[in-house]
Amino acid sequence: MAGSPRVGVLALQGDVREHAALLAGLGAEVALVRRPDELAAVDGLVIPGGESSVIDKLSRAFGMRDPIRAAIAGGLPVYGTCAGLILLADEIVDGIEGQQSFGGMDIAVRRNAFGRQTESFETELDVPELGDPPVRATFIRAPVVTRVGQDVRVLAALPDGTIVAVEQGRLLGTSFHPEVDGETRFHERLLAHVAARSHEA
Ligand code: GLN
Repeated sequence: MAGSPRVGVLALQGDVREHAALLAGLGAEVALVRRPDELAAVDGLVIPGGESSVIDKLSRAFGMRDPIRAAIAGGLPVYGTCAGLILLADEIVDGIEGQQSFGGMDIAVRRNAFGRQTESFETELDVPELGDPPVRATFIRAPVVTRVGQDVRVLAALPDGTIVAVEQGRLLGTSFHPEVDGETRFHERLLAHVAARSHEA
């Protein structure tokens, strides 16, 4: 790969701009991805937060579901935040009728897992893999990971053990939104996956 990594943000719905701005700040060439040819032109992808059932429906309407599944199966590095994490999960708990994910990560994810009382909250999260300082994590009607397969690495959990950040191969997922707090280390990790993959090619 010559020059900047080309990273897409799936731009069907959700907080697309925040991720695009953050990635551009890290030196990536950013593309908003809505069509299969746009997906084919990127070396990595962010699936933003938003509403997972809407992103699911739109991806099917735009003919993007199968290309995204094929790209994931082909080893494309992907980072999913919140709704994006739900879309990367092989199994969704508490999805709406007929809701599907792209899958790829051997995990189960429960939508809206914190209930109405705690729709949104912020906390400092220790992520050993990212070192110091702890991550300022904003959870917005967030999902949690309720099952992890043996190939899945848990990157972070809340003090009660609830899993909120995971990685499997080049797929990375967080329940929370690092982009709203200017936390860049997860996106840097995605870029590291992109670089590692390009060196293999
Ligand atoms: N509750 C949303 C969903 O189920 C996720 C919320 C978010 O992405 N901030 O898709």
